[in-house]
This record gives sequence, C-alpha cells and structure tokens, in this order.
Amino acid sequence: MPLFKTLMVIGPGLIGSSILRRARRDGQLAERLIVMDRDATVLARVRELGLADDVTMDPADVAHADCVVLSVPVRAVELVARSLAPFLQPGTLLTDVASVRGELGRTIPSFLPEGVEYVPSHPMAGTEFSGPDAGFAELFEGRWALLIPSEDSAAWACEKIQQFWENCGARTKILTAEDHDRICAMVSHLPHLLAFTICDTADNLSGEMRSAVLDYAASGFRDFTRIAASDPVMWRDIFTANRDVLLETLERFIQDTQSMADAIRRGDDDAITAKIHRGRRIRRSLIHNRQA
Ligand code: NAP
Repeated sequence: MPLFKTLMVIGPGLIGSSILRRARRDGQLAERLIVMDRDATVLARVRELGLADDVTMDPADVAHADCVVLSVPVRAVELVARSLAPFLQPGTLLTDVASVRGELGRTIPSFLPEGVEYVPSHPMAGTEFSGPDAGFAELFEGRWALLIPSEDSAAWACEKIQQFWENCGARTKILTAEDHDRICAMVSHLPHLLAFTICDTADNLSGEMRSAVLDYAASGFRDFTRIAASDPVMWRDIFTANRDVLLETLERFIQDTQSMADAIRRGDDDAITAKIHRGRRIRRSLIHNRQA
C-alpha cells in the first residue's frame, strides 16, 4: 500500500522533482501525485517528464492532498504555507525541505487550521543544479533526512514523515531546530560561503592572471567551482535566514585560518602538518560513515 493517497509537491525543482521521480519509480509513496508551481511553463515541463498525475497553480487544490511537501526556497516557505492554509483539510500532513529552520517550526503552526499536522524535514542531499530536469530518484539514497518536529507534532505525523524519507532511500534523525541550524551552518552553509568567496577572489584578479587561473584551474579550485555553481536565490535565502549562526561559525573559521597563517609565517612544520592530518582524519571518517 502506498504511504499516502495523494501527495502534493509544491516547487518541482531539484528536491521536489527527485521526490516525484522516486514516487513514480517505486510506487510506494503515493497513489496519486499533484504538482503545484507558480510558473505554467514549469508545470508543462513536469507533465512532459511524466512526473505528475495532475498539475495546478491553484492553492485550493491542496484540499485534495493528504500529504503536502513544500519544496520552495527558504524565504518562500512561510508565504506559500500561508496561501495554502485556508484550504488545508484536517488530517493533512504538511512538511517542507528548507535548509534553515529558524522560526519556521513556531510560525507555521500558528496559522494552520486545527487538525493539520506540520513536521518539518530537511534531506541532506543535493547538487548544484535546479529545476524539474535536475532531479533523480536516487538523490536521497543513503543520505540523512533530518526531522525537526515541534513539541506539538503528533507522533503519528512524525512516524509518517520518517517513513516518507525512508521510502525515498534516506536514513532519518530527529533534531531540534537550534541543533539543525548550527550543524548545517558548519557542514553546508560555511562551505558554500567559502566556495562563492574563492570564486569571487579569482574573478577579482586582474587581466592575464585571472584568465591563467581559469585556464589552469587545478582540482582544488575546480571542486570549489562545482559548489559555487549553486542557485543564487536559494543561497541568498539560506545565508540571511541563518545569519547569526553562520556569522558565528565564520568567525571561528577566520580564527582557525589565522592560526594556519601564523604557522606558515613561523615556518612551523609540525603545526602545519598537524592541521592537514586533521583534514585527512575527517575525510576518512566520512568515508567510514558512508557520507562520501
Ligand atoms: P530549485 O530546484 O530552485 O526549485 C525551487 C522551486 O521552488 C521551483 O519549483 C520554483 O519555482 C519554486 N519557487 C521559487 N521561488 C518561489 C516563490 N517565491 N514562491 C513559490 N515557489 C517558488 O530548488 P531546490 O534545490 O529544489 O530547493 C528547494 C528547497 O530545498 C529549498 O528550501 C532548499 O533550501 C532546500 N534544499 C535544497 C538542497 C540542495 O542542495 N539543492 C538540499 C536540501 C534542501 P519556479 O521554477 O517557478 O521558479
């Protein structure tokens, strides 16, 4: 039996269309798939790709769904949830996949109708690509899907969202919003900030030097450019929504960079190699945990 009768995905981008592809591939997530977007051309593409049984731009159609996944940029999550609220039926399960929790877990339940359950989640999986063509059914395979329920979230609703992500191939973990935002600042938001900034620094080089850097880009720089190719709106929203925690994490990073710079300035071989060893250890532990 599929987990839901009707699953509605709002925002069929990388994450939304990966969920839809998984649902289509396995048939375990829902009997019927509805996709909502604000852009008719995106919905036409969703139809072409065969990712939905029905497409809509009308928030009232949410009344037909027993599970709704908001897969829109962080800043749009509350706006879209507000537009759906008048039409949500008691018993409907609402989740989102936003990369920053902030106040969403408190704000959204405050305007949802009685009997609608909200269990936020965040799949720790992604690529630098966007839109309905970017998704793939295996995106969540073996990755973590973090659940961030509030104290008021019903146990049955948490279990369903847990099953939802497990059916997508993910492993699940429950976290508080504060822990979530702190962890993600370190493992995702700071690395993206560094990647955008390294590209910025290379782009600011003048004339011949700039083109030489791009011509002879070594693998270290190339790896950063993959991350830096990510969607600007998505990352603007993430940086501003997680501002305080991100800036705090960045401050620690600046201090550690300073300490590496000091070791290099002093010619302190032991300090330099000790820092590099830590990097290798972290890489090995990621491989051991099947996250690399
Ligand atoms: P995406 O490929 O750019 O798709 C975003 C979707 O949201 C598109 O369908 C877009 O519609 C829609 N949208 C954008 N702005 C909107 C607005 N103001 N109102 C209504 N709909 C809007 O993005 P994604 O990578 O799937 O990310 C979606 C969510 O997943 C974000 O909250 C992100 O933080 C989270 N997430 C992303 C990753 C990742 O690595 N990409 C990983 C985990 C979680 P149009 O096509 O019509 O613009």
